[in-house]
Amino acid sequence: MGKGFSPDWYFASAFDITPGFLLSNGIKAVVLDIDNTLVTYGDAEPTERVVEWVSSLKSAGIKTAIASNNKKERVDLFNKKLGVFCTSRSGKPSTKAVRAACAEFSVAPTEVAVIGDQIFTDVLCANRADAVAILTSPIPYRENLFFRFKRGLEKPIINKFRKKHPEKCFPERSAEK
Ligand SMILES: [Mg+2]
Repeated sequence: MGKGFSPDWYFASAFDITPGFLLSNGIKAVVLDIDNTLVTYGDAEPTERVVEWVSSLKSAGIKTAIASNNKKERVDLFNKKLGVFCTSRSGKPSTKAVRAACAEFSVAPTEVAVIGDQIFTDVLCANRADAVAILTSPIPYRENLFFRFKRGLEKPIINKFRKKHPEKCFPERSAEK
């Protein structure tokens, strides 16, 4: 089952991921999760910070797509200020969004990074598609019981990864607190 639930990299925030980091790791395109990765769950529009970060990727020549399991109206409204390639109802961990981005941008799955906050959707989608998995910690939000349950399952996997691969985590564990 390959990499399974394990990400390739862990970042405390998506905004810490620089175009230089992506390019130096052979990544030509990114597929971005929206909720809890770029904005707080349910925020209709991208913040200034999201717009700036996405435009820094675009100006570095990194092809940028957004993919959400949410419905088309939500994704289209969010994309108004970004104007990037979108997949809604992407059904992650289905590989649909990665396959769509590969076709749109003419890149190989191994040149695509899926960036998202959830192991069981975003990381699994990347690993099943043979893409690069970049896990971010979720932007804080009011959690319901279902999400709390899922976070509980994710935590040991994340902690194990961070312990085993401190060199693949940003910021490094020792730099925290
Ligand atoms: Mg998410």
